[in-house]
Amino acid sequence: MIEPVREGGCGCGAVRYRMEGEPIMVHNCHCRLCQQQTGSTSVVNAFIETDRITLLQGDLSDHVVPGGSGGPHTMRRCTLCGAAIWSHYARLGNLGAGLRVGTLDDPGSVTPDVVIFTESKMPWVALPEGIPAFETYYDFREVLAPDKQERLFALAEKARQG
Ligand SMILES: [Zn+2]
Ligand SMILES: [Zn+2]
Repeated sequence: MIEPVREGGCGCGAVRYRMEGEPIMVHNCHCRLCQQQTGSTSVVNAFIETDRITLLQGDLSDHVVPGGSGGPHTMRRCTLCGAAIWSHYARLGNLGAGLRVGTLDDPGSVTPDVVIFTESKMPWVALPEGIPAFETYYDFREVLAPDKQERLFALAEKARQG
């Protein structure tokens, strides 16, 4: 199977990156933290092994904010325009990245696996048909294909070993 290669970047054009392979999972999250951090209805994050992302040009600066699970959430932003490109979350640390799908050159090329935290979605936002939606979080074992679960377990194991 040929793995897809996607590229993307920030709005000012300084940052460019390449992402190799399909994401492990894609979340459309409507939690209040995501709303406050993006100033928008929700965020779409593609979770992938960080070593599958290559920064092609530009510089990123780290911004640490509270994460939903209580641990730190580090956003990596373009140093020039401030656009968030991806995040590292407490559980997987720097090994896993939640890449902002809106920064892909072809953001329609990935589809969320789940819509989460619908309990805090803005009331006029309609939920997409055919994508499982959850009031808060979800059990990935009920949603993700076995090969994706394996990749997630492998990352978690690596993170445990430090
Ligand atoms: Zn969220
Ligand atoms: Zn920029």
